[in-house]
Amino acid sequence: MYLTQSLHRSVQQHPDRIAVRAAGRTLSFRAYAERVARLAGALQGLGMQPGDRVAMLALNSARYLEYQMAVPWGGGVLNPCNIRWSAAEILYSLDDSGSTLLLVDDTFRPVVEQMRGQASSLREVIYCGDGPTPLGMLGYEALLEAASPVPDAGRCDDDLAGIFYTGGTTGFPKGVMLSHTNMGSSGLALHAEGLASPDGCYLHAAPMFHLADMGLAAPHWLEGNTHAIIPAFSPEAVLNAIEQDRVTHALLVPTMIQMLVDHPAMREPRDLSSLKCIAYGASPISEAVLNRAMDAFPGVDFVQAYGMTELSPLATINPARNHTAEGQRRGKLRSAGRASYCTEVRIVDSEGIEVPRGTVGEVAVRGPNVMQGYWNQPAQTAAAVRGGWMHTGDGAYMDDDGYIFVVDRLKDMIISGGENIYSAEVENAINQHPAVAACAVIGIPSEEWGEAVHAVLVLKPGQQLVADALIAHCKTLIANYKCPRSVAVVEALPLSGAGKVLKTRLREPFWQGRQRSVA
Ligand code: ATP
Ligand code: MG
Repeated sequence: MYLTQSLHRSVQQHPDRIAVRAAGRTLSFRAYAERVARLAGALQGLGMQPGDRVAMLALNSARYLEYQMAVPWGGGVLNPCNIRWSAAEILYSLDDSGSTLLLVDDTFRPVVEQMRGQASSLREVIYCGDGPTPLGMLGYEALLEAASPVPDAGRCDDDLAGIFYTGGTTGFPKGVMLSHTNMGSSGLALHAEGLASPDGCYLHAAPMFHLADMGLAAPHWLEGNTHAIIPAFSPEAVLNAIEQDRVTHALLVPTMIQMLVDHPAMREPRDLSSLKCIAYGASPISEAVLNRAMDAFPGVDFVQAYGMTELSPLATINPARNHTAEGQRRGKLRSAGRASYCTEVRIVDSEGIEVPRGTVGEVAVRGPNVMQGYWNQPAQTAAAVRGGWMHTGDGAYMDDDGYIFVVDRLKDMIISGGENIYSAEVENAINQHPAVAACAVIGIPSEEWGEAVHAVLVLKPGQQLVADALIAHCKTLIANYKCPRSVAVVEALPLSGAGKVLKTRLREPFWQGRQRSVA
């Protein structure tokens, strides 16, 4: 099994079908594969040997898609950089991964120019923006023109396909080593779950550096479908792409869904009839936001995926059939789903022993999607992968039918007065208030309770809400001890590059110098 396999098949079976739609231009599979083979040749010409890491720091683009195939085609290892990283973090990842080549676009050119010379392993920087090639960098198109296409290097199975850094939501990102089989198994499982239909068009709306996007695109590679690309998420860009590129499938993380359904552009008349399926995941979604989304896109299938970079990235799927009134009645709508094909999922205690159904424990996953390990971090690998089981650090319970319900990251769980409080449940209650656009719940120090529940809110435009009113609202939905004790209203929540709320950042001012017992 290898990453470029599906591309070879597409070229053989439908060379003239459109592979890429981006920035108003299209490329057929034949043309795309030709460029990929040339870029692979160019990278080899720059000294890329089998197993060498090649980094990319860029917004989404057609060239990003070429990088994703050309590096494995040429025998290299993908090392995409998080677009929210600071210069110090970029430098850390380049040094940590030992990347010898880096591709950079216009947005990130200044930061790369600033840190040039400091990344010890870096030999060349390739400029993949649209302007004139900056001094000291190599021009992407000039490289391609000068290079000869090379045959696929044939790396496969247990060979390393990429080092993907985790989202950095809970701490410093870790480099996750994924093999061709790891990534292939996740793609096959998503395809078997019906996440790609023939003649489809997948929209890259989530950042392409993040494995969630590469993972959800994988079944579309298998199907030989078209890839529509927007540089970055915005409600207008997503709606325009769906309409103009006849998008059938998209992956949107919950914060994107919330921004989309609350945006005035949603109320403009548009032809979105091509859209068949919205996959969502990467962080918990509240039922209120999900219901608003399902109302906003009638007739569109909603599918939840749960997973993590360490799982290539898929672990469980909640299919469209549960996103119905019947699914809601049966209590399945809120679930992150059941073990996907190729995986086994268990809920375990701290000893790794399975807990009874309905009891909260840690999600553990086994299968061909479990990573090879954390790059350069043998101790962290040994702590996370035990007996073949990846211990996710996520708290969840499983119902009698094998559906899991993610309640919180174990690190975000709040222990107040000896009781465990899971933020997903509290956030779900808060989000049902009509004035609330988004929220995050964290534990803050309390003399009396150890930790107290603190809610941080973003309000809908023109809305007002006082703490007492929100607390009274929560008391009608959840137990008293779970309700927020204090509330802050902010303009926007701090988000990671993958659109996840950075709770560590929200907690920081409250915990300065003090240690949380949970973390
Ligand atoms: P870091 O590991 O660096 O802190 P991260 O965990 O956010 O960052 P990812 O691998 O991108 O990095 O994210 C995986 C995590 O995202 C999971 O462990 C889980 O906490 C959360 N997640 C993913 N899918 C879902 C989902 N459907 N519902 C709830 N949480 C989810
Ligand atoms: Mg993680």
